[in-house]
Amino acid sequence: MTIREALREGTDRLRSVETPFLDVSVLLAHTLGISKEQLFASFPDEITGKTLKQYCMYLEKRLSGYPVSYIRHRKEFFGLEFYVDERVLVPRPDTETLVELALDLSRTHKTCRRVHDVCTGTGCVALSIKSAMPELEVSASDISEDAAEVFFLNRKKLEIPVPFSLCSLLDGIESPLDIIVSNPPYLTDGEVQRMKAGNWPEPALALAAGVDGLDVIRKLIPQGLDSLCKDGYLCIEAASWQMPEIGRIYKEHGFRNITLKRDLGNRNRVIIGQK
Ligand code: GLN
Repeated sequence: MTIREALREGTDRLRSVETPFLDVSVLLAHTLGISKEQLFASFPDEITGKTLKQYCMYLEKRLSGYPVSYIRHRKEFFGLEFYVDERVLVPRPDTETLVELALDLSRTHKTCRRVHDVCTGTGCVALSIKSAMPELEVSASDISEDAAEVFFLNRKKLEIPVPFSLCSLLDGIESPLDIIVSNPPYLTDGEVQRMKAGNWPEPALALAAGVDGLDVIRKLIPQGLDSLCKDGYLCIEAASWQMPEIGRIYKEHGFRNITLKRDLGNRNRVIIGQK
């Protein structure tokens, strides 16, 4: 079978997923150990039995609801390549908003030097910030031992020095901090139950946060207030519909200058409060 035929048949097989052609192209390139560009330049080439079998296995896995990133164990984020598996959430492009925001704040306010990433998972936020501005003091934490293992893999692979603490939110994190960033779990239990019923493999611990998805954020805001220096910033990723309530909680705890930042899809994605 040629590469062209394998792509055509694969696309047909994956027609129920959102982006069939993209997914099969990435999976076939991964199977062959070449880039997507090389793949597209090799349409007439034949694929041998073993490669074909591996490709079919990947297609089946994708069809069963497995994300391409878990199959490849790779996800691009902010120009870096992260290792991912079922122990962590797959980094989303939306979360790059959080990284850009921390970098903007550090560039604008020269005194903002100590940045901490809470619920770091893969480490994508903390490691991207440190990679873009190595002069910052960036640290990270997560409550999950599984996530810690993946964080260490990424820190080693990318060779970006970011200290890590295994702890609940900011418990025991050295303060004062200038900027706290976090992509905490913020889906509702109902949303996560539906995802799990559809065999979604991401860890519920990284996604679910109670009836309204705000259980973790409700704890993080007062802890953030205690850990920030005067005028420091707390930047939290959440869903756009949650922003009014998060803004209210910020105000209740005395945060000021509450602002929102939109993601690439033009939805409010990060809410910022200043101490
Ligand atoms: N943005 C993710 C999603 O919609 C949720 C991430 C999170 O809960 N931190 O799947």
